[in-house]
Amino acid sequence: MTDRVEELRRNLAAVQHRITAACAAAGRDPAEITLIVVTKFFPASDVVALADLGVTDIGENKDQEAAAKVAELPPAVRERLTVHFIGQLQTNKARSVARYADAVHSVDRSKLVRALDKAARAARDAGERTSYLPVLVQVDLGEGAQAGRGGAHPDDVERLAEEVAATGHLRLRGVMAVAPLGLDEDGTRRAFERLAAHAETVRRVDPAATWISGGMSGDLEIAVAAGATHLRVGTAILGSRPVGR
Ligand SMILES: *Cc1c(COP(=O)(O)O)cnc(C)c1O
Repeated sequence: MTDRVEELRRNLAAVQHRITAACAAAGRDPAEITLIVVTKFFPASDVVALADLGVTDIGENKDQEAAAKVAELPPAVRERLTVHFIGQLQTNKARSVARYADAVHSVDRSKLVRALDKAARAARDAGERTSYLPVLVQVDLGEGAQAGRGGAHPDDVERLAEEVAATGHLRLRGVMAVAPLGLDEDGTRRAFERLAAHAETVRRVDPAATWISGGMSGDLEIAVAAGATHLRVGTAILGSRPVGR
């Protein structure tokens, strides 16, 4: 094993241990949780190493980087992975993302719903994907000065979910959020509890929309306690990135 593979193995095991402990504390079954390893900034070789270590889901937040990285993966590795797009998305990148993403977590406005639906249809017509594109409504959990850092306003979540459900080529899978910066543990817990309430609203639109994507390296235990089903963990497994990535 190279040093890097050994480092990834050790970090992955530590995060899996944290998830198991958080589930035990919350009385939840670890099988309910999907760990998405966020590989943004890190090379395709790390993705290959992670897949060899048993990772099944990766997350990326920039189209250009993700498209190139996914294309670089050996087909046998690509086939085993679920690729989640988790970053802010411009409508002019929708067509590219629909080629390789197995799910998009960051749907936050009507215009993007329409662009992704059109893109998913074009990708299907071109033989680049065989089925609908699963998407999540990203919710802005910020309050006051913390609001507006990404995601739909809470008042718009139900309408966006209905818009997704009415498309022909997208499938509503649930909700996603990033906890606002600078909150203490209690504030973060309340934010993830609001996310769980939004998840209920979205499940009323489509009962199959069961995913709650919340929790990162620093707050995954709090997210698990509040009901998250998908954790997006980067730093704790791959190491630190340059500021802003
Ligand atoms: C980078 C990123 C993550 C991972 O964050 P870490 O703190 O490195 O675990 C999770 N979610 C989104 C949307 C991200 O952009």
